[in-house]
Amino acid sequence: MKKVLPIGEIDRSWSLFLDRDGIINERIVDGYVRNPAEFVILPDVREAMAHLRRRFGRIFLVTNQQGIGKGLMGVQDLEQVHGYMEAELEFPFDRIYFCSELAAANSPFRKPEIGMALQAQRDFPEVDFSRSVMVGDAVSDMLFGEKAGMYTVFIPGAAASWPDADLQCESLYDFAQRLKKRTR
Ligand SMILES: [Mg+2]
Repeated sequence: MKKVLPIGEIDRSWSLFLDRDGIINERIVDGYVRNPAEFVILPDVREAMAHLRRRFGRIFLVTNQQGIGKGLMGVQDLEQVHGYMEAELEFPFDRIYFCSELAAANSPFRKPEIGMALQAQRDFPEVDFSRSVMVGDAVSDMLFGEKAGMYTVFIPGAAASWPDADLQCESLYDFAQRLKKRTR
C-alpha cells in the first residue's frame, strides 16, 4: 500500500537501505560485476552519498549477487569490488549485506525476502523499519521494502515502473536533492 514519505521528518533516527546495481553503479544487463574494472559508479553518486550520510543515522547496502551461486565469481571477487566501491565513495555504508544464493534456492536472505533487513536490525538494534527507506530499481527491491514495512523509493532501471512506490526518483542524486530541498 502506497504511503507518503515524510521527507522533512527524516533525521538521524532513520535508516537507509540501498540496492547496489542500478543505484550505485551501472547495472550490467544479464551479467554480473565481477571485478572493480566492471564497477562503474553512476554520475553524482559520491555527492549524493555525502548528503545521505549526513541525513540518515544508518546506511546499508543490500544486494543479491547470485553470480557467486552460479560460480561466475567468488566471494573474494565481490569483496574486492566492494572494497573499491567503499574507497571511491569514501566508506559510506555501515554494513554491506549480500545474498550469494541462486534465485532457485529460495533463500530467506535473497530479496524480495527480508532476511538482510532482519539481519541489519539484529546487528544495529536501533534500526526501526517504520523509519527506514529502501531505494531500488527492481520489483524485488520494492517488495523487500514493503514486506519489511519500510518506505520505498523507486528508481527506474531493472523494472520500468513500480506504481506502488512511495516515491519515484530519477537517480540517487535526485533523491538526495529532494531531501536537501525537503520537497516531496
Ligand atoms: Mg538493482
